[in-house]
Amino acid sequence: MTGELVQIERIRTSESFWKAFDGCQQRHHYSYERKIEPTHVPPWDPRNVGDVGHYALDAYHLELVRNSAKEPAARFDAAMAEAVLRVRAKTQGGIETNHELRRVRIVCSEMIWAYGGRWPDPEWNWFKGEDWFNCPIEHPVTHEVCQWFEDRGKRDGVVRASRPFRWGDEECVPGLYLVEHKVRAHVGDREINIMRHDPQTILYAYATAREEMEQVCGILFNLIAKCPIEQRRAETQADFEDRRADFERRARAGEIRGNKIRKRKEESEEDFRQRAVEHGIEELGKLEREAAESDEDYTARVRAWHTPDAFVRFVARPTAAEIARARMDRWARAQLYLLAKRNGLIVRNRGEECYAFGRPCDYLPLCDSGEDPEILNSDYRIKRKAKEALADDAAALEKARQEGATQ
Ligand code: SF4
Repeated sequence: MTGELVQIERIRTSESFWKAFDGCQQRHHYSYERKIEPTHVPPWDPRNVGDVGHYALDAYHLELVRNSAKEPAARFDAAMAEAVLRVRAKTQGGIETNHELRRVRIVCSEMIWAYGGRWPDPEWNWFKGEDWFNCPIEHPVTHEVCQWFEDRGKRDGVVRASRPFRWGDEECVPGLYLVEHKVRAHVGDREINIMRHDPQTILYAYATAREEMEQVCGILFNLIAKCPIEQRRAETQADFEDRRADFERRARAGEIRGNKIRKRKEESEEDFRQRAVEHGIEELGKLEREAAESDEDYTARVRAWHTPDAFVRFVARPTAAEIARARMDRWARAQLYLLAKRNGLIVRNRGEECYAFGRPCDYLPLCDSGEDPEILNSDYRIKRKAKEALADDAAALEKARQEGATQ
């Protein structure tokens, strides 16, 4: 024995890693053990609006801080320009022809503009945005540290306020706070209640307090509702013909009357019906295929949808007991995962989990086909490394910047 110490590098695990393990071990196995991902996520997958909107929000807040020396109006403009640029960068690629991609771009741009108008410039004098942290997984009572895994996460922001400030309807005392942006389908009482006790943010607050060696006063939640309005597509020829056939059937039955066709006092039932049929046939001749909704009309509808109710802010203040509970849950989960790994057991959670969030699981075709090699090779690929994904994002941002400069 030389007495030399060997440092074992722990595997860094994210919140989504543990959530996937909780939801379905088979999905976790595909995603985190074998690092497989679907080759294509449809542009209007709800995650895309959430992801793009979140990315833009991060940029907006970072720019507000970077430009702190500027006048408020100039700060706002700079932050908004950067946020909209990020939306453009994330929605590149055939934007002129891709209906769904255009829609993500419109919804996220309008969301950011409405957000900027809803909340005034925060007067924080210190803010760390898009900030990574590592934190050991430790038993909260025995303080035993897990030798295999540690938590790694990205905080949307950490704020140190030197004077009282408002967050939504709440007064906040000076101190250290965590900021969390959430873009969700709904932002009602149910969502607020869930987020108030969300173990992920509680653990992030714990990690922040540990790192900064200072108590965290609370978590500043910034909720935004996703606009659910769809942009009308052009009617297909087949759909038009179906609609026309249905209209014709109703016209010939004398059912197309509208306000113009009312029975006159002296008119017989038969004459009235004949008049209604003639009116219906005349209207049938006017039917046309419905055109797609223009971007301008769609933008106006999305803009009108973003009322102040779509933006909610509240403060969560986790108790010491909640923090200890969240740490214990993480510790216990890590032990369960180790046990599953050692035994080589993978439990599928076949059922509602396969359609969680109202969409099929990314691995459904693979899972149901018993891992058909053809499906595996055509619909899936090995995930890009985080560094490659970041490099792709940076390249897309640079491209959007150059396009913006030439427009
Ligand atoms: S399809 Fe269902 S069982 Fe299969 S990985 Fe997805 S969630 Fe799990």
